[in-house]
Amino acid sequence: MTRNADLFARARHRLPGGVNSPVRAFRSVGGEPFFTARAEGPYLWDVDGQRYIDYVGSWGPMIAGHNHPAIREAVARAIGNGLSFGTPCEAEVTMAETICRLVPSVEVVRMVNSGTEATMSAIRVARGATGRSRIVKFEGCYHGHGDAFLVKAGSGALTFGLPDSPGVPKPLADLTLTLPFNDFEAATTLFERHGDEIAGLIVEPVVGNANCILPRDGYLQHLRELCTRYGTILIFDEVMTGFRVALGGAQERFGIRPDLTTFGKVIGGGMPVGAYGGRRDLMEQVAPAGPIYQAGTLSGNPVAMAAGLASLALVQEPGFHARLEAKTIALTDGLQAAADEAGLPFSTTRIGGMFGLYFNRDHVDSYAKAMASDAAMFKRFFHGMLARGVYLAPSAFEAGFMSIAHADADISATIDAARETMREIG
Ligand code: PMP
Repeated sequence: MTRNADLFARARHRLPGGVNSPVRAFRSVGGEPFFTARAEGPYLWDVDGQRYIDYVGSWGPMIAGHNHPAIREAVARAIGNGLSFGTPCEAEVTMAETICRLVPSVEVVRMVNSGTEATMSAIRVARGATGRSRIVKFEGCYHGHGDAFLVKAGSGALTFGLPDSPGVPKPLADLTLTLPFNDFEAATTLFERHGDEIAGLIVEPVVGNANCILPRDGYLQHLRELCTRYGTILIFDEVMTGFRVALGGAQERFGIRPDLTTFGKVIGGGMPVGAYGGRRDLMEQVAPAGPIYQAGTLSGNPVAMAAGLASLALVQEPGFHARLEAKTIALTDGLQAAADEAGLPFSTTRIGGMFGLYFNRDHVDSYAKAMASDAAMFKRFFHGMLARGVYLAPSAFEAGFMSIAHADADISATIDAARETMREIG
């Protein structure tokens, strides 16, 4: 028995499904996950000594590559002063100032410990500030596991929410309305009917949880205008896109100013960090400045802030995002060429350090098209790549992540592996 198999057998006995977060379990691609022993740059090594070129990057945080010395050293220095204080510390102030400087729509920010906490809190602010209860989210968008978000559309275009998870009370799920992403008309119609009741609209400006769907021209602007017209708080969930698709996130790239923004992943450099922030008049309603309650024992933790600040320092290096995007382009172009050679139905999407791979001949710009991709072919592709030492997200509906540590040689090796794999699965 391999050490991986032994560990997974033990894990399955004591952890639900053997994991602490579902997608890690390989359920949608089949087979068993590997257990990582060590990570460095663009690579993971499992407990059996196999090396993988990694395009998951801990699901987004490792934009500078794994175990970056600058982040590691910042953490080591912070640890020397203690692990947690429960009082304010300087790093929190520097972090808040850094976020507000890099993302100008954020005038005031609150640090939390995960993306889920950030989105749950942002929705609370939207509801508290407007006195309204309903929220809007999009099919295929993921905003963490808060009750309000585990809701997807029914078959109709403007159906009221249905619980997608047992444990979400129906009256709560009913407050979440869902829309198809990139459908201008559906959004207009929903607001015409319910605009006055909608506290907040939350959107991943690039949908990274249905693979990687880019907004159509003008779509985010359309949402901005509807929210402004109806007094709805526009929330950009930039947990994934923040500091990744551009230094100032998707809102910089698409030139939209949301009312609130949520962050996670890159902002923590690999430590559990999230944040939400935005308009001063809204954020100053958060306790103790105002009555909307939200708190956290470990929020603004000094070690986590040190990792996050080091991560944000790296992405601020001149030309970082241009270099990152060039790598993403080289990879997706190479994979497309390999698929064309093998005659497979395949398309890609990309922006900054994010990409989508679809076994679908069409350009994917909607959730419906993403769902229409060939999932069985993706499974074979995933396993073929894994066997050749390339780790892609173990699901057809997760974005891929590039890091600045992926060298040309890693990208060429990935494309070579894809050429072989695609020939095999075609
Ligand atoms: N929002 C988005 C856009 C995400 O991608 C995720 C996680 N993948 C979350 C929120 C939730 O973040 P976390 O897993 O840190 O709770």
